[in-house]
Amino acid sequence: LPRIAIIGRPNVGKSTLFNRLAGRKIAIVDDTPGVTRDRKEVEARIGGRPVLLLDTAGLEEAPPDTVAGRMRASSEVAVRQADLVLFVIDARAGITPSDRAFAAWLRRQPAPVLLVANKTEGRGGGMAAYEAYELGLGDPVAISAEHGEGIADLYTTALPMLPEEEDPEVRDRDRPLRLAIVGRPNAGKSTLLNALLGEERMITGPEPGLTRDAVAVEWIDETGGKVRLVDTAGMRKKARIIENLEQMSVGSTIAALKEAEVAVLVLDALLGMDEQDLRIARLAEREGRAVVIALNKWDAVEDRTAARRALDDVLMASLAQLKGVSVVTLSAITGKNVNRLMPAVRETLERWNRRIPTGELNRWFEAAVARHTPPLVDGRRIKLRYATMPKARPPTIAVFGPRAEDLPEDYRRYLVNSFREAFDMPGVPIRLHGRGGR
Ligand code: GDP
Repeated sequence: LPRIAIIGRPNVGKSTLFNRLAGRKIAIVDDTPGVTRDRKEVEARIGGRPVLLLDTAGLEEAPPDTVAGRMRASSEVAVRQADLVLFVIDARAGITPSDRAFAAWLRRQPAPVLLVANKTEGRGGGMAAYEAYELGLGDPVAISAEHGEGIADLYTTALPMLPEEEDPEVRDRDRPLRLAIVGRPNAGKSTLLNALLGEERMITGPEPGLTRDAVAVEWIDETGGKVRLVDTAGMRKKARIIENLEQMSVGSTIAALKEAEVAVLVLDALLGMDEQDLRIARLAEREGRAVVIALNKWDAVEDRTAARRALDDVLMASLAQLKGVSVVTLSAITGKNVNRLMPAVRETLERWNRRIPTGELNRWFEAAVARHTPPLVDGRRIKLRYATMPKARPPTIAVFGPRAEDLPEDYRRYLVNSFREAFDMPGVPIRLHGRGGR
């Protein structure tokens, strides 16, 4: 479960908020500063989503050998473990020097921070909420923990800042890898499948449209893992030539891609990569699939260096989203190098599945933003504060900051490329969302 730490100096209302979010009385609430001494963990729901709330002793600037100092150390542990930090300030008291000190410290921590201005019931909280901007932690959410005001607002703001739920499929190690073999007619898809299966399960031949077997196969590959070929209807339905062949193959390729995790794009090395192949590759990218290229018929290629360079040129010029995609040169017909395909597929799948811990992600993010400042849009600079990775499969990054949703395309591309390099994710489409403040 995602962990949420509630942090703030003593008496700002952390325990009241904790109780409010947990929906029952757990923390001891008292007006004496520092009454909440122990860190507690309680399951709660944020907008329907189960989370763990970490209650923390009050943050105080004190030497570590005092009680206050030890409490602060325990808060630090909580912050380090947290997926989201709720930093609570007292809107009635205004911003104190210790709020400032902790804000400065929190800004350096990896977890995203949501600033919560408490005790704003009635009037009087307005000025302090405004002042709160100076903490550099974005827009505060104004609440009254005691009166239950602004809690819905807190939920809507906090929810997108949490990491996305772990896909149960990722955890199931026995589940077969779902593979789509895509490519234009006659590239050698059926022959390659036969080679992978090690038996003549399908009918292949020199004319497009000869494959009539329905393909529902599962096998164990040379890495020892289970593989399921997802319904590559493009191979199956080719027999029905009455329909518009072009239309049909795109439609069925999309259907197969939707079910697949990894797409093996089979290219005919004698023909190179043309518009039709690129269109299929872009479909795979659009569907967010991991891609490996099988450069087939390598046995029949005379000038291999030229063939390889020609492909690299096309990839560089026209397939930026799949930069660094694995290319396996092979011959489906002789079987040469076919055994290199599945290891490449597994490696690409791993990148596609990978989650980057928030701390590591934000160390990259800060450096990337520092190296290349976000641009001005309509005369105002877009500020980017932190990033989260709400999901994998494909890797998806969310970047937060005022007006982050207005990030121009070229800056998004810069971030995506920088991410791809920093975390070594070639051949994997990467999504980026900008999320602004409220
Ligand atoms: P599909 O339409 O993509 O399924 O293509 P097929 O597997 O039916 O193959 C089309 C043609 O290419 C057939 O004549 C195959 O024998 C031939 N072919 C497939 N793989 C290779 C290869 O590695 N080398 C050569 N030289 N020919 C191949």
